Amino acid sequence: MGLPLYLPPMTRAVAKPPEGTIAPFAELSVDFMGSYPDPATRLEPELPELAFIGRSNVGKSSLLNALTGRKGLARVSATPGKTQAMNVFRLPGFYLIDLPGYGFAKASKVNRAAYRRLVEGYLTRRETLAGVVWLLDSRHDPSKDDLVFQELLATSGRPVLAVLTKADKLTRREQAGRPAAIAAALGVPDDQVQLVSAETGLGIADLGESILTAIRGEPE
Ligand code: GDP
Repeated sequence: MGLPLYLPPMTRAVAKPPEGTIAPFAELSVDFMGSYPDPATRLEPELPELAFIGRSNVGKSSLLNALTGRKGLARVSATPGKTQAMNVFRLPGFYLIDLPGYGFAKASKVNRAAYRRLVEGYLTRRETLAGVVWLLDSRHDPSKDDLVFQELLATSGRPVLAVLTKADKLTRREQAGRPAAIAAALGVPDDQVQLVSAETGLGIADLGESILTAIRGEPE
């Protein structure tokens, strides 16, 4: 691997309500719009988009469920045939885009090419994309797949927030130390990473606020 790649930061916000298990988007309408294999698909109406991506099994579905307070919301993304498509959820004023998880080692060559076409096409050319929530497992240093993906992210020039999942599996001491260690491994500032747990709700309210801030396009 070369030098860490620059990722423009997505604004990180702090939620007003205290941390808790209350889903920040629970009161908002959430409609599944469909699964689209073509990254150029136009959505009607045109709204800003916030994309979620990470390695398979990183906890993406659980996180989307925790944000929206809907159990099984993102289950569709794991069904066969839907793994090479972007799954689109409409909320009031924006779309959440669930991009398929990466895990380049296991995929066949054909699948890898299709995956790259979708995700690279989406990240580099999507005009309505306001920010990327990049999921990493808080327990581990970034994997080879994560670092390969980071190159693609950096090339895209999109605002990124690195979200570290499964924080409930860390000790308190690790919760204090892991974010900075992962930020250093990625070569990003400490405030570009956010620790979360879909299990306990840690960091979920703040993540919800960061997403709304990115969608509104407000300056920091
Ligand atoms: P996806 O493949 O990225 O959508 O990952 P899933 O949301 O399906 O989660 C993968 C596995 O990790 C499942 O067994 C989840 O129960 C577990 N998981 C996800 N989020 C958390 C979390 O915050 N805490 C814990 N302890 N487990 C989690």
